[in-house]
Amino acid sequence: MARKPLVAGNWKMNLNHLEAIALVQKIAFALPEKYYAKVDVAVLPPFTDIRSVQTLIDADKLSLTYGAQDLSPQDSGAFTGDISGPMLAKLGCSFVTVGHSERRAIHGETDELVNKKVKAALKHGITPILCVGEELEIREAGEHLEHTRNQLIEGLKGLKAEQVQAVVIAYEPVWAIGTGKVATAADAEEVCKSLRGTLSEKYGDEVATAVRVLYGGSVKSGNVSELVAADNIDGALVGGASLDGEEFTKLCALA
Ligand code: PEP
Repeated sequence: MARKPLVAGNWKMNLNHLEAIALVQKIAFALPEKYYAKVDVAVLPPFTDIRSVQTLIDADKLSLTYGAQDLSPQDSGAFTGDISGPMLAKLGCSFVTVGHSERRAIHGETDELVNKKVKAALKHGITPILCVGEELEIREAGEHLEHTRNQLIEGLKGLKAEQVQAVVIAYEPVWAIGTGKVATAADAEEVCKSLRGTLSEKYGDEVATAVRVLYGGSVKSGNVSELVAADNIDGALVGGASLDGEEFTKLCALA
């Protein structure tokens, strides 16, 4: 089965709602609607921008999709500062990143919590983009395949095969995020192929063939083509380069 590529822009903690509107307008202007027949594109703004982005996309009936960067494993209640799956679903979010390395490192998110968040997203009809990736020491020790395999297994624990089929995986080596140091296409493909192999082993070939595996880590218009040409890389999770409308749409057009 042919997998439709996905390019998702992770804005991180950047852009207020007015800047968000300006960026979405640039993307809408630069990417013709027919483009979306070939590639799915999503923006993942901060929570405070989602309503503005939704309003613009809905008003102009754009095929651009959007989502969030995190969600609570809980549906509601006394969880000050958290945002739940039902809240994101109500805002029409299609995607949510889960287990991004910045949340694992800065907020101490464990595989167990990441797994609960994956389940919360699926429960509310939002596609989780499950992020896995190794730190530099792990790669230098030659343990990156085992490390990312374990993160994948733990992140998907307890899910049925049909649920796994609805998940997007993003391989994001920590040493490549925001550093300008992109993995070579061969290095990225090695891990993405291994992750797909794990999906096949655990959930069968049909699931493994259907799941989109993205690469993330310093992706730009200058390196995206080479990365997505690899057999097991189905698009990109883009941080810094997604904040520049011209660069992001150039990158999308090459994906
Ligand atoms: C990210 O944070 O998901 C990411 C890929 O960042 P960058 O593209 O800036 O490396």
